[in-house]
Amino acid sequence: MPPPANGFPEPQGAIARLAWRLGKLPGIGPKSAERLTQFLLSADPADVLSLADALRDVKEKVRPCSECFTLTEGELCAICSDARRDPKTICVVEQSRDVAQVERSGIFRGVYHVLGGRLAPLENMGPEKLTLDALMMRVRKNGAREVILGTNPTFEGDGTALYISNLLASSGVRITRLARGLPAGSSLEFANNQMLADALEGRRDF
Ligand SMILES: [Zn+2]
Repeated sequence: MPPPANGFPEPQGAIARLAWRLGKLPGIGPKSAERLTQFLLSADPADVLSLADALRDVKEKVRPCSECFTLTEGELCAICSDARRDPKTICVVEQSRDVAQVERSGIFRGVYHVLGGRLAPLENMGPEKLTLDALMMRVRKNGAREVILGTNPTFEGDGTALYISNLLASSGVRITRLARGLPAGSSLEFANNQMLADALEGRRDF
């Protein structure tokens, strides 16, 4: 029996419940959910329990870095606790996963600030939902020289960059935007390492 479509109430029974849960994951349709369920049913119990542990761990142990809001397991992330990183250069990105993307360029030696999203009034994402107060505090506390606006080159990412540049206008900090090596409308997530390195090196005053 195929698993119930997403949006149905959680079914009774371990197998149906697993298929229903898997079917709620992005990109997993009912057929894939069914296939994964069958795979897990016949897999080695130790492997499946280890997957369950990994799921539990990721929700219980991972939390935002107290400094930059990158998801991490400790109080501070590896970048914030690395004394070789320059805290006076702050690259502002939308999501924690964007940090890994910019890191892959291999050329950025500053620190990050994760906003936790972008301004999207139609989705009720106002400035109060982003970590903007913490960003302003860090710019002051770190005596920042440069804030690189690394929000995605989308309509909303650009709007968010503009909003932040206005907030920082009177701070005297240099404000730059990642160069348009990134295709408009794309996201950092899909940029390759060289594109990100080019975007960083070619960044311009905002
Ligand atoms: Zn951090």
